[in-house]
Amino acid sequence: MKIIKTTNEMRSLALEEKISEKRIACVPTMGFLHEGHLSLIKRAKQVADVVVVTLFVNPTQFSPNEDFAQYPRDLQRDSELCLAAGADYLFAPSAEEIYPAGYNTEVTVKGVSELFEGKFRPIHFNGVATVVAKLFNIIHPDYAVFGQKDYQQTLVVKQMVRDLLLGVEIIVAPIIRENSGLAKSSRNTYLSDEQKTQALVLSQSLKLAADAIAAGETKSAKINKIMHDNIEKSAFSKIDYACAARAKDLTEPEEFAHGEEVVLLIAAYLGKVRLIDNCLVTIK
Ligand code: AMP
Repeated sequence: MKIIKTTNEMRSLALEEKISEKRIACVPTMGFLHEGHLSLIKRAKQVADVVVVTLFVNPTQFSPNEDFAQYPRDLQRDSELCLAAGADYLFAPSAEEIYPAGYNTEVTVKGVSELFEGKFRPIHFNGVATVVAKLFNIIHPDYAVFGQKDYQQTLVVKQMVRDLLLGVEIIVAPIIRENSGLAKSSRNTYLSDEQKTQALVLSQSLKLAADAIAAGETKSAKINKIMHDNIEKSAFSKIDYACAARAKDLTEPEEFAHGEEVVLLIAAYLGKVRLIDNCLVTIK
């Protein structure tokens, strides 16, 4: 596995692979890899000849009050994990490589970016769309694999790919969880052992709502209340959202139709740590 730090080198190596008719899959990450990331690399290997993992803690997707500075970083550990998972290239550029001095262009995806995460993290998806577009322009992958863990992000990226005719097939891989049910996340390193137990309220709340849907509930207010009530009586201090929405576009009807695919989305604070989780369910 090659570790690459510059866009020029990454661009020419990816081009060489394409000339040799290799199919490239890209796995964008912010590093501090865990089994969730490794599952994306494995999925990428199933569909492509060459896997490029990107590792970039993208400054433009963090607001000034967020955790950019303390976000965990460990390139040595990440490169060992990437190698073991079978990646061919690890692209770990500096901020200057991705955002050359005086850069003045960004990608805005309207609509789906403005809901849920977009309301609470207003610049977040601009940063995500911009960096993903840049990575695609450097690597020109045939496929890119993203995790369902960041469900709204997958919709934003798919919309951008359609709108900008980027020609990259977006693959969404399932959420990998601890045995306890806690969704794996690089940010779980911020949690104490006690908080990791308290954080199970998120996956439990999703399950309660999913069970209600399986038992025939179709009204969004009732589904949302089940999640809110369960989180409010827990150690979580603030709920940004705990909502059911249409999986295809995150719109929120008063009542879901039979057979409709729904995503249950939660973002909430445990102490200072903001955690997200979600699950997909089909209305009976
Ligand atoms: P991040 O490094 O947190 O930006 O995540 C990079 C990619 O890994 C994104 O597509 C995430 O959705 C995905 N990812 C993060 N956590 C998980 C998880 N627990 N299971 C599956 N994919 C994940």
